[in-house]
Amino acid sequence: MNTPYDVIIIGSGAGGGTIARALAASAARILVLERGTAVPQEADNWNPEAVWKHLRYRTTERWLDGHGEEFLPYTHYGVGGNTKFWGSVLYRLRREDFQSVEHLDGVSPAWPIDYDTLEPYYDRAERLYHVHGQHGSDPTEPPRGPFPYAPVPHAPGMAAIVDGLRRQGLHPSHLPLGLIRPGEAGGCLLCSTCNSFPCRIHAKSDAEVCGVAPALANANVTLWTNARALRLVADPTGKKVEAVEVERNGDTVRVGAGLVIVSCGAVNSAALLLRSAGDKHPDGLANSSGLVGRRYMAHLATMMQGFHPLRKNETVFQKTVAINDFYFGGPDSKFPLGHIQSQGRTHGVMAQTVVPWIPVWAYDAWVARGVDWLAMSEDLPREDNRVTVDAHGRIRLHYRPNNLSAHDALVQQATRILHRLGFWKVMTHSHRSKNTTHQCGTLCFGTDPRESVLDPWCRTHDVANLFAVDASFFPSSAAVNPGLTIVAQALRVADHIMATDL
Ligand SMILES: Cc1cc2nc3c(=O)[nH]c(=O)nc-3n(C[C@H](O)[C@H](O)[C@H](O)COP(=O)(O)OP(=O)(O)OC[C@H]3O[C@@H](n4cnc5c(N)ncnc54)[C@H](O)[C@@H]3O)c2cc1C
Ligand code: SF4
Repeated sequence: MNTPYDVIIIGSGAGGGTIARALAASAARILVLERGTAVPQEADNWNPEAVWKHLRYRTTERWLDGHGEEFLPYTHYGVGGNTKFWGSVLYRLRREDFQSVEHLDGVSPAWPIDYDTLEPYYDRAERLYHVHGQHGSDPTEPPRGPFPYAPVPHAPGMAAIVDGLRRQGLHPSHLPLGLIRPGEAGGCLLCSTCNSFPCRIHAKSDAEVCGVAPALANANVTLWTNARALRLVADPTGKKVEAVEVERNGDTVRVGAGLVIVSCGAVNSAALLLRSAGDKHPDGLANSSGLVGRRYMAHLATMMQGFHPLRKNETVFQKTVAINDFYFGGPDSKFPLGHIQSQGRTHGVMAQTVVPWIPVWAYDAWVARGVDWLAMSEDLPREDNRVTVDAHGRIRLHYRPNNLSAHDALVQQATRILHRLGFWKVMTHSHRSKNTTHQCGTLCFGTDPRESVLDPWCRTHDVANLFAVDASFFPSSAAVNPGLTIVAQALRVADHIMATDL
């Protein structure tokens, strides 16, 4: 067996790419395994037809849903993982998100760490991922100092909308955005193909640009692409992983290391542990709690568009406005409803994926007069919302969204707001049970090994040299984008590993 490494990191997205960069500062010999390849920098990066019609960068892998029906998950396998396609809205969770919070549909459980524990790592994460924002304008903002970079200014059309929101008594704030030198020569162009598109000029703060590439500048870090971890092999005691079985360019090889960090994303990390069942772990590796794959969450998300036939939307970069007035409750509800943010511009081809028979020119005319938003609510961890694998190792995702009434109330509020802003019509669209972009929660962390898979440092309770560092550790999903919290926890776990294991 090949064992020239101290640490193997499986996956190079928000969790894996970040922890690779942080551990690169140690003397450890690190191998990053990535099942995909790097996204090429090419004209198609910004071509809506290539990205949305031909699905150029999307996985072709099919998953099964709870009924056993195949579907194409909205996920990407490659260097940087899904961060290559993210909108780079990089939020801290609210202080209350770390505590137990009562929702319309039940209780969102407390985290084993509080906001203050993660705060210094949020600071570091924001610097590492170039987060631009404005301190002090968001009514739900947790205690914090100024952002490392000034907010991205609102385009004139969005500034007018912000004024309109204030006139409605709301408290709009700047979205925190991870962009590299926006508006400056050689930096981010503030274009209209950001969210869901890779950045052709590498000006988006993604895990390749901010994590993997700087990590690889160190001689102790090696990246294998086209290297898919098939399973983890435990030693005879079952208390240690001794090898990773990898399919690399068509061959199967085994590679060992003192420490293994699983960072495949919430669905694939759980699937990998389930596929790694053995004598001492018949129900899956590190699964003495029976919770591996369970408590899957993905947010309730509705894309919304305010439309006015006589108002052409001239804004190019639209993704700068947040509304958090309903985060902890609404006018008719004492329960949290969620978060609203402006989105990148919808292109006709994107809209056409919803109703394919309408010609793209009609959609183009429509979306040219629309302003795009996203309403997002917390879903709650339920044990029967889970990832399983079938006899062939195929992923099956059982997910029944919950907390729907809270989300419906949020969408209702957003609709009212858009009508008050003068939009004639408000369109909505949701992926509901097929939502995988904000997947989290399948290996939740906690202090009690019967109630969690990972300890508060993301080490598995059952297997001493096995960590999971990606979105899987979330005990609750909160209602803001997850990326910065994954990055901050990866930095925290890296500090811990360097202090205790390396
Ligand atoms: C279109 C889109 C927009 C988004 N916008 C935002 C946003 O604005 N803000 C935000 O915070 N979040 C956003 N997200 C969500 C965000 O991208 C994810 O939460 C984040 O990337 C998850 O990080 P991760 O480390 O858990 O997994 P990923 O980033 O998905 O990384 C997992 C990696 O593991 C690799 N992998 C999987 N299985 C294996 C295996 N068996 N062997 C080897 N490698 C493997 C994958 O190829 C991938 O590189 C968005 C997501 C999408 C798809
Ligand atoms: S140039 Fe800026 S706005 Fe355009 S894709 Fe790159 S990071 Fe996003």
